[in-house]
Amino acid sequence: MIGLLQAFSALRITGLNLFRAKNTEPLPWDGGRVRPERYRTSFALVHNSDGDEACIGCKMCEKICPSQIITVVPGGRAPSPNTGKPRGTAKDFTLDVNACIHCELCVQVCPEDAIVMLRVPEVPGFSREELFLSMEKLYANEKVPASWGTGALLIGMQAEGQPKPPPPPAKAAPPPATTAGVPEATPPAPAAGGGETP
Ligand code: SF4
Ligand code: SF4
Repeated sequence: MIGLLQAFSALRITGLNLFRAKNTEPLPWDGGRVRPERYRTSFALVHNSDGDEACIGCKMCEKICPSQIITVVPGGRAPSPNTGKPRGTAKDFTLDVNACIHCELCVQVCPEDAIVMLRVPEVPGFSREELFLSMEKLYANEKVPASWGTGALLIGMQAEGQPKPPPPPAKAAPPPATTAGVPEATPPAPAAGGGETP
């Protein structure tokens, strides 16, 4: 009897909730959910304002990554196809999102703002390979809305928060002019007889 009452109570709550307004977030694939400015998931490599691949193959992101999941193969210096000026290039770039902790350090150290994170929900993958980003996939992600951070922005924010260095100490007064080899001035000799000169 008690079980029957509990079942009716549960059915009543279910029935009431059928007519209540939804208070859950839409699923990612339903769209319409605004992601926070600092929401970040996957990665993209971008082009610079000259139209060149911004990455210069400096390997700074590879060195700082705590998960050691970035591999950059530098391509050496070469003239830009757009400006003709010589600049560094990357021959290959891979990033394995499987082990990423989303610390954003790779974005923060990039001197060219070449790597950014994405402000879209991660599409679930069905294999590890789907979360392994080749250079081609990274540049294809350039079309996806990016998260807020770039290297220049993050480094600028850090610099703002740092205490200013103390002013340099005031210059000490120059020592008295007793140059080696020059005898000090001798006081005038007293007049003969010890009396004062009239
Ligand atoms: S966010 Fe952090 S862990 Fe992920 S690739 Fe960048 S540096 Fe590595
Ligand atoms: S993405 Fe940035 S930090 Fe990484 S190799 Fe390219 S230029 Fe250097």
